Amino acid sequence: MENKAAEAMIHIDHVSRVYRNRSQVEVHALRDIDLALNGGQFISFKGRSGSGKTTLLNCISTLDTPTDGQVTIFDETVTRLSPEEATAWRRDHVGFIFQTFGLIPTLSAYENVDLMLRLNHLSTHARHERVVEYLDLVGLKTRVNHRPHELSGGQQQRVAIARALANQPKLLIADEPTGELDSTTACDIFDLFKTIVRERGLTILMATHDPLSDDYVDQVIKLKDGCVVHE
Ligand code: ADP
Ligand code: MG
Repeated sequence: MENKAAEAMIHIDHVSRVYRNRSQVEVHALRDIDLALNGGQFISFKGRSGSGKTTLLNCISTLDTPTDGQVTIFDETVTRLSPEEATAWRRDHVGFIFQTFGLIPTLSAYENVDLMLRLNHLSTHARHERVVEYLDLVGLKTRVNHRPHELSGGQQQRVAIARALANQPKLLIADEPTGELDSTTACDIFDLFKTIVRERGLTILMATHDPLSDDYVDQVIKLKDGCVVHE
C-alpha cells in the first residue's frame, strides 16, 4: 500500500479527552487517538453510542479542546487557536450537519440558507446566486419557498446541507446526519455526500451508526471506548 500519510491533510496527533462528571469521576472519552487523514475524502467514524465519535468530531472542528494532543488541519494547528480565533476559523472553513437538522422553522428553505450567508460579506446578488446554486445542488430547486414543516425529513436535511455548503467550507462535519431518517432516505443522503466530495473536492467527516454508509465512504474508522480499532 502506498504511504498516504505523507499527503494527509488532517493530522490527529495523540489526542485524548478526559471529562469529569458531576462526582468528579474521570471519563476517558478519547484515548491517545493518532490518525492522518487525506483531504478530499468522505470518511466515516463508526462505533457504538459512547465510543467517542462526537467528542472526536468536536475536537477536530474546535467545538471542544483535547485534554492532550494536537489537531492540525490544512496546515493550521487548530488546537492552538484562542477561542476567538477558533470561532473565526470555523466560520471560514467548516460546515456542520447535525442529526436534528437545526433549521429555523419560520423561515423558508431559501431564507435558511441565506441567513447563514448574511454572516459573510457578500453582495445581495452574490448571496442570491449562492443560495440558488446550493439548493439546486442538493436537489431542492422546486422547494425553495417551502418551510421546514412542509418538507420531508430528508428534504429538511438537504436544506441543512445546502446551508452548510453555501459558505464553501473545506471541511464538512456531519454528526449522525441520518439518525432521524429511514434507510432509503439515509442512503440518498450518503450518496449526496459522496457526489459532493467527488465534484467539489471538500472533505466530509461523518459520525454514524449506520452500516449502510460503508458502501458510500472512502474510509471507515472504527472507535471503541475512545480508541481507534485497527482491524
Ligand atoms: P458517541 O458520539 O460515540 O456516542 P461521545 O463522544 O458523545 O460518544 O461520548 C464519549 C464518552 O464521553 C461517553 O462516555 C460520554 O458519556 C462521555 N461524555 C461526552 N461528553 C461529555 C461531557 N460533556 N461530560 C462528561 N462526559 C461526557
Ligand atoms: Mg455522538
